[in-house]
Amino acid sequence: MEYDVIVVGKGNAALSAALSAQENGAKVLILEAASEDEHGGNSRFAGGVMRFAYESLEDLRRVTDITDEEAANSNFGTNTTDEFFDVLFRLTSFRTDPDLSEILVTQSLDTMAWLRTKGAKFILNHGRQSGMVDGKRVYFGNMPIEVNGGGAGLVDYLDKAAKKNGIDIQYDTRVSSLIFDGETVSGVRAQQKGQPVELRAKSVVLACGGFEANPEMRTRYLGPGWELCKVRGSRFNQGDGLKMALDIGAAPYGNWSGCHATGWDRNAPEFGDVTVGDQFQKHSYIFGLLINADGKRFVDEGADFHSFTYAKYGGAVLQQPAQFAWQVFDSKVSKLLRSEYRIKFMTKVSANTLEELATKLEGVNPDGFLKTVREYNAAVKKDVPFNHVVKDGKGTEGIEPKKSNWAQALDTPPYDAYSTTCGITFTFGGLRIDKETGQVVNVHFKPIPGLYCAGEMVGGLFYFNYPSGTGLVSGAVFGRLAGKGAALAAKQG
Ligand SMILES: Cc1cc2nc3c(=O)[nH]c(=O)nc-3n(C[C@H](O)[C@H](O)[C@H](O)COP(=O)(O)OP(=O)(O)OC[C@H]3O[C@@H](n4cnc5c(N)ncnc54)[C@H](O)[C@@H]3O)c2cc1C
Repeated sequence: MEYDVIVVGKGNAALSAALSAQENGAKVLILEAASEDEHGGNSRFAGGVMRFAYESLEDLRRVTDITDEEAANSNFGTNTTDEFFDVLFRLTSFRTDPDLSEILVTQSLDTMAWLRTKGAKFILNHGRQSGMVDGKRVYFGNMPIEVNGGGAGLVDYLDKAAKKNGIDIQYDTRVSSLIFDGETVSGVRAQQKGQPVELRAKSVVLACGGFEANPEMRTRYLGPGWELCKVRGSRFNQGDGLKMALDIGAAPYGNWSGCHATGWDRNAPEFGDVTVGDQFQKHSYIFGLLINADGKRFVDEGADFHSFTYAKYGGAVLQQPAQFAWQVFDSKVSKLLRSEYRIKFMTKVSANTLEELATKLEGVNPDGFLKTVREYNAAVKKDVPFNHVVKDGKGTEGIEPKKSNWAQALDTPPYDAYSTTCGITFTFGGLRIDKETGQVVNVHFKPIPGLYCAGEMVGGLFYFNYPSGTGLVSGAVFGRLAGKGAALAAKQG
C-alpha cells in the first residue's frame, strides 16, 4: 500500500483534507475526476467571501494584514460566535445539527488562520457588502475578508501547498466505488483516463461534492422541475461520492430535498464557466422588483440582505411559470448594483418609460407588469428614508407579497431589467459523520473503518437556506478534521 490516505476530489475541502492528513504524517494521494484544466470543483467558481467568527481587530489580523490606517478608517463590525450561531439557526429554521454547527462556528477563525499558514492570502472585502458612511468604510455583511483571487485563488494557493508538501495528484480519475470487505474501506475503484484501476490506501476521504450537476438525481431528490435549472459551477459533481458511500451502508443525513440555488442569467451556459466565475449571478434584487411571466411579484425582495435570502430565491424563481424572473430597477439604484450587473455576457433590456419596458420584458404579460408596478409604487412607505447599508424598514403597505426594506417607487428612468433563471450551487443532503474525526458512520451510526468525508458531502449543516460565505469555510473546517482523522487512523492501522 503506497499511500496512507486517498482523497477523492480536488476542491477546497479535498485540498484542506489532503494538507491536514499530510501534516499529520500521512502519505497522501489526491484523485480528481476532472482534467488539470478543469480541476478545482465548485471551489474554483466561488466568489471567495468567507464567513467566520471574529470579534476584534486582533482576530481579523490572524487572517490578514490590516494596517493601523485601514483599521482607523474602517468599521469591521463583528461576527461573534453567538452571531454566527444565530444566523445559522435562524436561516435553517433551527434544523442545523447543533454539534456540526458548533464545530463550524468555533473552529472557523482558527481554520482561516490555518489556511493562511498553508499559503492562502486573504484581503479586505471592499467590493461586496461594504460602503462609505461618514468617511469610514463600513462592512455591513459580517464578512470583511475574502480570499485573494476568489475561489480560484484559494484552489491555486492550496494546490501549490499540496505540491510543495509532496502530495501526489492524479487527474482524469473518476472514482466509481469503494473497496470494502464488509467491514473496512481500503481503497477505491476508478476510471483513470478511460482505464479501470484499483488504488489502495488505509483511509479514504470523500470530498467530491454533491449531486448538483446530475439532473436525474436533482429530479429524484429535489423534485420535479429541478432538471431544468442551470448549474453554477463544476460539471463533475455528479453525486458519485454519495452514491458509493450509500452503496456500502453509509448513513444519509440532512436536507436531501434541499439545495442552494440563486438567480442566474437566463442565457448562461448549462454549467459554470470559469472565465466568468460567479458573475452570472444577480444579487442586487433587494433594490428592485422580481417579476414573473404573469407580470407579478412573488417574493419579498427586501426581506433581508441578499446574503440571507439569495440561496433560497433561486428555487423560488424555478417555481415560476417557465422558470424565469426579470429583475427590474430604476436609475435611482443603478449605482448600488453589484459588479455582476456590468459584465459583457448578460440578458439585459433598458427603456425610458415603464410602458416601453413592459414590451421589452420577453415572456412577460405587459398589462400584468404595469398593474404590479402601479400597485407597488402606491404601497411604498413615503415617510421612511432609504438607506442601503442597514435594513432600513422602508417597506410597502397593503400589498402581497410585501417588500420589507429598500422599497422605493419605480419612477425614475431609465429603467433596466435583467432576465434570470434558477442556478443551482450545491445540494444540502449528505452523509452522517462522527463529529470528532470526520469519519462516515453507517446506518446503525457505527463508524465505517477507513471512510471519511468533507465539504458538500457532509450532511446536516444546511436546511432550506444558507448564509453566504459558509461553504468554503465549512469545506476547510471539515476537510481539516477529516484529513487529521484519516491520517491518525492510518498510522494506527
Ligand atoms: C458560482 C459559485 C459561487 C460561490 N461563491 C461562494 C463564496 O463566495 N463563498 C463560499 O463560501 N462559497 C461559495 N460557493 C460555494 C462553494 O464553492 C462550495 O460550497 C465549496 O466550494 C464546496 O467545496 P467542496 O470541496 O466540497 O466541493 P468542490 O469544490 O465542488 O470539489 C469537488 C471535487 O470533487 C471532484 N469530483 C467529483 N466527483 C468525483 C469523482 N467521482 N472522482 C473524483 N473526483 C470527483 C470534482 O471534480 C471537484 O474537484 C460558491 C459556489 C459557486 C458554484
